[in-house]
Amino acid sequence: MSYSLIPNRVMEQYADLTPAYLRERGITLLLSDLDFTLAAKSTRRPDQSLRDWISALEAEGIAFMIVSNNRSGKRVTEFCADLGVPYQGHAGKPSPRGLVAAMARAGREPAQTAMLGDKLLTDVLAANRAGVLALMVEPVGGAVTFWQKVLHAMQAPFKAACRRREGRKSGKKPTNG
Ligand SMILES: [Mg+2]
Repeated sequence: MSYSLIPNRVMEQYADLTPAYLRERGITLLLSDLDFTLAAKSTRRPDQSLRDWISALEAEGIAFMIVSNNRSGKRVTEFCADLGVPYQGHAGKPSPRGLVAAMARAGREPAQTAMLGDKLLTDVLAANRAGVLALMVEPVGGAVTFWQKVLHAMQAPFKAACRRREGRKSGKKPTNG
């Protein structure tokens, strides 16, 4: 089990993740965090661009499931029902148990699975412990509150390490940020 905090890839937003990128890596199940990954926490209903993005994944044979630590059940349940996607709640990230349960429900192995999220200490750590591809996005709406800014600063070196590793793999120089 890996306790690494370094994601496999960092993106600006979920829409940067394409079905082609996942298919090339043999991924047929995408697990995703909800809050600040797919929508701001105050957002009650999914917008059309999120619906279109999930439809494009499913059209390429990639199953999609939301895995959230969120305990305020009603909003998350309604958001996922509206979106028409299954939801694994009380995931307890950074424990891998929510991801393991989601994979069992979908009938997929870790090698076929990726986890998308905005936080290193929950989403990325849970992904690495579960042995799935760890994908990270910048938080929707950016870091606003004091603690979000502190967290954002703490995450920066790990994201930079990811970019250096990706740069070495592709033979390109890493970009700043
Ligand atoms: Mg989140």
